[in-house]
Amino acid sequence: MHDGCGGNMTDGMAILQKIRMMGFNKNKMPMVHKFECESCNEMVEMATLEHACSCGMVYAVTPCSAMDSSRIKAAGKYV
Ligand SMILES: [Zn+2]
Repeated sequence: MHDGCGGNMTDGMAILQKIRMMGFNKNKMPMVHKFECESCNEMVEMATLEHACSCGMVYAVTPCSAMDSSRIKAAGKYV
């Protein structure tokens, strides 16, 4: 199994732990995703697989899902 792909993982914390464990969390996204932070409503520009908003909310996505902004999940604040 090639991995870093979380299959259908929908839990942000599980995704975050997975990409940290695999060492992918600082990897660059294939494209920058921009979306509204669900905590502070500021615009987030996510360029790496793990990204923390200025408010502390951490977002994560697996490498295989990085093209799809709907697969980016919030893991929680200051995690
Ligand atoms: Zn925020």
